[in-house]
Amino acid sequence: MNVININEASAKELLGYYQAKLDEEAREAKKAGKLVCWSASVAPPEMCVAMDIAMVYPETHAAGIGARKGSLDMLAVAEQKGYNLDICSYARVNLGYMELLKQEAMTGETPEKLANSPAARVPLPDLVITCNNICNTLLKWYENLAKELDIPCIIIDVPFNHTMPIQRRCKEYIAAQFEEAIKILEKVCGRKFDYDKFLEVQKQVQRSVEQWNRVASFAQLEPSPLNGFDLFNYMGLIVCARARDYAEITFKKFADELQAKYEAGQYAFGAAENEKCRVAWEGIAVWTYLGHTFKTLKKEGAVMVGSCYPGMWSLVYKPGDMLSMAEAYTKIYINTCLENRANVLKETAEKSHSEGAVMHLNRSCKLMGFLNNEGGEYLTKELGIPYVSFDGDQTDPRNYSEAQYETRVQALVEMIQERK
Ligand code: SF4
Repeated sequence: MNVININEASAKELLGYYQAKLDEEAREAKKAGKLVCWSASVAPPEMCVAMDIAMVYPETHAAGIGARKGSLDMLAVAEQKGYNLDICSYARVNLGYMELLKQEAMTGETPEKLANSPAARVPLPDLVITCNNICNTLLKWYENLAKELDIPCIIIDVPFNHTMPIQRRCKEYIAAQFEEAIKILEKVCGRKFDYDKFLEVQKQVQRSVEQWNRVASFAQLEPSPLNGFDLFNYMGLIVCARARDYAEITFKKFADELQAKYEAGQYAFGAAENEKCRVAWEGIAVWTYLGHTFKTLKKEGAVMVGSCYPGMWSLVYKPGDMLSMAEAYTKIYINTCLENRANVLKETAEKSHSEGAVMHLNRSCKLMGFLNNEGGEYLTKELGIPYVSFDGDQTDPRNYSEAQYETRVQALVEMIQERK
């Protein structure tokens, strides 16, 4: 791996460097006989990292494969195994990738689809950890990984919050599972849990989250120095490295750059007058068409300034307090009642001064998609702003139409201009 001067590197260089470093570390850990864990994106990494386990994140890995136009091969492998098209494409891409790694491990030969894949190489896991605070697909997906590979599966079961605020018994139920996970890790690792390191990791997560939220706050400025699509680009580190200082260092650099840019009168699209309107985006990015979704908005002068999705990793809690940590991991907006979800959406649109919203009706993600129509209607009723929706999918390119997206964006911008 190339060496980098952290103080002199740009945030973009740090992002690339740390993303590659995380994969490298997982490969090195495997070679050295250390444990590797595959983890759901909003499952708590604190316990595993405190036990020095290398972490790999299948959702982020699948997103990277999708962005590099390699997801169709992995989807084909999963579909041949019988995984239905209606299952989340992150799960199908990862289960396909796992199948190829497994074949390689069993035969000693690298399958062609794996050899030709643009995917960053990651090793097979020794254990997996999952959490249903963003969907229940993550339970069955990880159970299948554990069954196929005959490895332990740690599940943090998080109840859906039908009412707000979060009830104490719910926090206690989740905190008890953190304690149970610690016992499992002690058995798997064959040593006592390191509570001192655990506290340090919790503090690190808080520092990473603070800088992540600082970056997102720049979209509230008018004109915005932050192009909201950069939250998608940088998201890999808040998912995969919030328990390490990699995320904190990179986000701090990025936030400092945004501050300097704003002070110099430079904004998301360059000069102030290039920001013709501001829109919120609801849902996961279309990784397979990230450039197209961004450029279509840019062509209309529409800056994406608000999205609830990156806020899912705003996991603020008090280090040393298990109930507080439990609350942070259950308060994810898509794990709460419609009223709360709609209010989070409204608050995001309000704070970012969004004049319209683009809703991604994601074929993969039923729970997030559910918010879109009701959420859009709520925005129109409460804030009087228009919304449009489009059909898509985060990593299955067969479910996206460039023409449909373009016409929806044009319609939104026309509605925004009419209101003005
Ligand atoms: S994209 Fe949606 S369905 Fe798929 S893992 Fe994420 S939350 Fe679950």
